[in-house]
Amino acid sequence: MTKIERLKAWIMEAKTLVIFTGAGISTPSGIPDFRSSQDRSFEDILTYGYMIDNKDSFTNYVFKHLYYPFAKPNLAHLYFAELERKGKVTSLVTQNIDDLHMLAGQKRVYPIHGSIHKWYCMKCEKEYDPLKLDHNHANYCSCGGFIRPNITLYGEPLDEAYYHLGLTACQVADLLIVVGSSLNVEPAASMVRYASQRLVIINKDKTKYDRRADLVFHEDIIDVIHKLSL
Ligand SMILES: [Zn+2]
Repeated sequence: MTKIERLKAWIMEAKTLVIFTGAGISTPSGIPDFRSSQDRSFEDILTYGYMIDNKDSFTNYVFKHLYYPFAKPNLAHLYFAELERKGKVTSLVTQNIDDLHMLAGQKRVYPIHGSIHKWYCMKCEKEYDPLKLDHNHANYCSCGGFIRPNITLYGEPLDEAYYHLGLTACQVADLLIVVGSSLNVEPAASMVRYASQRLVIINKDKTKYDRRADLVFHEDIIDVIHKLSL
């Protein structure tokens, strides 16, 4: 039995299949993984303190490096949405802020790091469409409040509701498939630690959870999904 055949069989058998995705699933859609960059300046810029003290350059940085409004879901996003329609996928936890799973039609998605497509006023919480905001300078609400993206910055807690839903999903899954995450960013990555049954990792590079996994693919994600969907 090949690894692909085994994974296909496990997906067929699974009663509670949960998917956990990271940046690697969206790079084939043209969204670069900013965390893999050699330049670590994003760790200083994408913080609450930097945002408050440097509203113009923070806004400019986010629009320049994190915002890809015209990216489309790829084969992998579509494959998991299709598995959900067939009643196979119970829920999907994602570290991505690009909304591509939702665009692919996935219904039960827990975006634990938020969404780059939702911006809101820090004072009155009024929501704004980022396409209509100034991408080079700070934007202010009619009430005077600063308009920020609804994403989790370094040092900020994860979206609590989604985190707990995601954590529970990982705990009860009888098959947890990690796709395109190097599992380096905490506390998101530690959710995988709670997988008590089958754990499968599909990621181009090694992850620190590979040894705990029952099956590991260090291959191109689209290639693996393509073989799975044949
Ligand atoms: Zn406001």
